[in-house]
Amino acid sequence: MPNMSTNKQLYNGETVSGKTLSDADFMRYSRQVLLPEVGEAGQLQLADACVAIIGLGGLGQLAAQYLACAGVGNLILIDMDKVEVSNLPRQLLFNDGDIGLNKARVAKRKLNNLAPHCTVTAHETAFNAETHADQLADVLLAKQQGKRVLVLDCTDNFATRQSINRCCIEAALPLVSASIAAFSGQLFAVDQMQLPSGGCYQCIFPAQTRVSQSCGTQGVLGSSVGVMASMQSLVAMQLLLSMDSDCDKAQNSLLGHFWRFDAKSLVWTSAALTRDPHCNVCGSKELHPSFNMHSKLHSMEI
Ligand SMILES: [Zn+2]
Repeated sequence: MPNMSTNKQLYNGETVSGKTLSDADFMRYSRQVLLPEVGEAGQLQLADACVAIIGLGGLGQLAAQYLACAGVGNLILIDMDKVEVSNLPRQLLFNDGDIGLNKARVAKRKLNNLAPHCTVTAHETAFNAETHADQLADVLLAKQQGKRVLVLDCTDNFATRQSINRCCIEAALPLVSASIAAFSGQLFAVDQMQLPSGGCYQCIFPAQTRVSQSCGTQGVLGSSVGVMASMQSLVAMQLLLSMDSDCDKAQNSLLGHFWRFDAKSLVWTSAALTRDPHCNVCGSKELHPSFNMHSKLHSMEI
């Protein structure tokens, strides 16, 4: 049995606001804390962090498990759908006994067992103009308190993706978006506060874009979904730990890049994102860090 206090001194040179990890947490997260990029300070930041996961399907339920088990302290789960038998080959958090139950509710119950330290809030409602202010209220509060916050778009609906993007841009919330249909995966992260030149989802896919692909119409392999969920979770962890600031912004930033994954050839390709100066979401708006969601409800289009 290693001497815990000695290891703490070895692994950690700084803590958050004088807080320290308990011995139990130090053991639990020891493989992460060993990484200099995490350390005790990073683990404490994760414990304070608040992440909203919109969509608890193939991507969201895996990302929720990764983040909760990694020590993220607060998860907001948003999904109005119920578990169906056709979900089970790729949505591994669910089983036959969950069929017919709300995904966010089931995920909350199971995450409470997997990661009892994580405070999970379930919203059994769709993400739309009437609901998003309530659904994201805890994330905005955490942001105002200076904690790490993030929104994960794990939906498979184009209109909802546009809506999530608009909310995140207007509220200055960092967004990590992933999707996959058939053998084609997509992933990108945007943060208007850190890299406004990276643009937004609407810069890539304007509202008039015709998007017909989804798992429901194109089919997908569960393992392909797992790859995208893992990558989305990895990007989320790096942003929560501010690891992107260690990268060369011009060459290797997490933000401002769009990745595609070909699940047949296993090839990843990426392209730099640039803001469309005519984008009606991010191109011409002033940023409002203290954005009031309620004031924007009328402008949402779903
Ligand atoms: Zn834009």
